[in-house]
Amino acid sequence: MRKLKVAVFKFSSCDGCQLQFLNMEEELLRLMDNIEFALFYEARRFAEPGPYDITFVEGSVSTPHEVELLAKLREDSKLVVAVGACATSGGIQALRNWADVEEFKRQVYPRPEWIEVLKNAEPPSKYIRVDYEIRGCPVSKEQLMLFVLQLLKGKTPSLPVDSVCLECKRKGNVCVLVVRGMPCLGPVTMSGCGALCPSYSRGCYGCYGPMADSRPAVLNKRLKELNIRPKDIQLLFKQFTGWSKEFRGVIDEYE
Ligand code: SF4
Ligand code: SF4
Ligand code: SF4
Repeated sequence: MRKLKVAVFKFSSCDGCQLQFLNMEEELLRLMDNIEFALFYEARRFAEPGPYDITFVEGSVSTPHEVELLAKLREDSKLVVAVGACATSGGIQALRNWADVEEFKRQVYPRPEWIEVLKNAEPPSKYIRVDYEIRGCPVSKEQLMLFVLQLLKGKTPSLPVDSVCLECKRKGNVCVLVVRGMPCLGPVTMSGCGALCPSYSRGCYGCYGPMADSRPAVLNKRLKELNIRPKDIQLLFKQFTGWSKEFRGVIDEYE
């Protein structure tokens, strides 16, 4: 059987989602019979040109050069899969979209005129067609593995669509929102992490982004009833996937 030719490419990001491929360790070695990483700078020095069967893209698109690279990758790829919060909603660096990026450049760089950036950090789907999104900051390696295995078996990959709350219920967690009055974005956030944070008695901060049919305005109302400070509600929605259109509605209410 022909091996699947896979590319893993990063845009503006911390590399954490790419590292989840390497964190698969033994499972990854087993996959090597069926896939080859033709382009993956974290894992090998040499890059083979496309076309690629699957291209995983990490990171948000933040510079004009990245827009060009992304368009070329789309041309060269049968499937483009966005991995992680940066690539599915802009991620942490999209926090700058509410601020003055020119001012940041002046504060940080001695020659700000050399830095070319777009006004906003955006997910790749703003510029190209993306076939699948695997969520999280970082993505879960189990989800990555399952995704690749489904493709290898010729199946249409299925990914979660429901909320973190359902995972909490399946695990029998005590609800930190209802029982302790703690802020938690679980009711509006996509499942897939196994309710990681509530399992340690912490509220979810939304790193998997909005679930399908997410209704953050309803949760916003509940958080207000709990007397959570407006600034804290805003920050909760903003921090990891705030640039998603669903969460932006709540954030803008507090701007
Ligand atoms: S989603 Fe999180 S872990 Fe992944 S690249 Fe972005 S910041 Fe890093
Ligand atoms: S702790 Fe959060 S995620 Fe879990 S059930 Fe309660 S609201 Fe939902
Ligand atoms: S519980 Fe929420 S913040 Fe924690 S890992 Fe899951 S989606 Fe991310």
